[in-house]
Amino acid sequence: MSEIKTIEQVKDGSVYGQIMQMGHEQLVFCHDEPTGLKALIAIHNTVLGPALGGTRLWHYSDEAAAVTDVLRLSRGMTFKAAISGLNIGGGKAVIIGNPKMKTEAFLRRFGRFIHSLGGRYITAEDVNFTTSDIEYIAMETPFVTGKPEIKGGGGDPSPVTAYGTYLGMKAAAKFAYGKDSLQGKRILVQGAGQVGTHLVSHLNREGAVVFLTDIFEDKLLSAAKTTGAQVIQPSDVYEFPMDIYAPCALGATLNDQTIPHLTCDIVAGAANNQLEEEGRHGHLLKDRGILYAPDFLINAGGLINVYTEYLGNYKREIAMKQTEAIYDTTTSVLLEAQEKALPIQDVANEIARKRIDQIAGVKLSY
Ligand code: NAD
Repeated sequence: MSEIKTIEQVKDGSVYGQIMQMGHEQLVFCHDEPTGLKALIAIHNTVLGPALGGTRLWHYSDEAAAVTDVLRLSRGMTFKAAISGLNIGGGKAVIIGNPKMKTEAFLRRFGRFIHSLGGRYITAEDVNFTTSDIEYIAMETPFVTGKPEIKGGGGDPSPVTAYGTYLGMKAAAKFAYGKDSLQGKRILVQGAGQVGTHLVSHLNREGAVVFLTDIFEDKLLSAAKTTGAQVIQPSDVYEFPMDIYAPCALGATLNDQTIPHLTCDIVAGAANNQLEEEGRHGHLLKDRGILYAPDFLINAGGLINVYTEYLGNYKREIAMKQTEAIYDTTTSVLLEAQEKALPIQDVANEIARKRIDQIAGVKLSY
């Protein structure tokens, strides 16, 4: 898979320039006037299997931002599936809009666009998508996972994502502090959403000192009340004295503006694409002595959950068991990065790339 460039190598900002440089196979623009649907489906790499990845609905500032997001997210799914040992490829969809647009017709129309790809792309939940939205999509296509448990599906993947993130954080703590207990550690969870709040519950059980932030004050106050976490304003995050920073909101929060201010020892969270520029910001964290648990490795629990559903006969115990491997994989990535004196993200990327290359070789003959 050597043709897949790092994001920094994408110099040409045109859509085709980005697709070619990041190594995508396909980008589909979907439009439906009656429902107002504007969706993008990106298939990054299908060497390991059909592309599986959730759909994100977001009020993007412009179309270029949506294109960049779907390309970065789908590429991340390729690496996430590969490093987690799953036999699926990387894909993702984004819808430009707001949650109020999600009528039955809107979602079913989107389902028909997914169906038109004949199974090359399988969707699931991401930001602003719920299991009931998935049910509408499932009325139009079988190429969908994350259905409600009551309908034989895997249900909301976010508790599994939070569990894997928690285990990845513990593996990072063991590496940084010599033991994996999070007791007494000051941990800031950014994003009081589905994953963030489940993560706070795990951290509470360990006796960590948990701080929580969100851009929506009502959501933040209600989550803080339920979990007992202490409230932090979103603008105070990057200079806040903390041991562990857990980004669980949107991506690119590790950048030139934030990294120089961080006081933490570890970054370990569930948000996708936390590094604004993979190579450069991975290096910057390393230079600052901050241990970074790669997002696509430790947030793979949700993908493992929907993959388990995709295989059939879903049982949450199977998904949870497979998610537990995140602890050992994180440990081995951290060890390899230390031995090679390389940024952790680069090492994780290389492990994923290697598996894809090797399996591509396996498939050469029948
Ligand atoms: P969510 O929409 O339920 O929660 C995200 C929260 O972040 C929202 O409450 C939002 O208001 C808040 N937020 C947005 N920008 C913020 C900012 N700048 N500062 C503080 N808060 C902010 O989404 P989720 O399902 O919990 O997912 C969280 C992240 O984890 C996303 O990046 C998602 O892609 C990633 N992820 C989720 C899963 C999953 O199973 N849900 C799996 C893998 C990765």
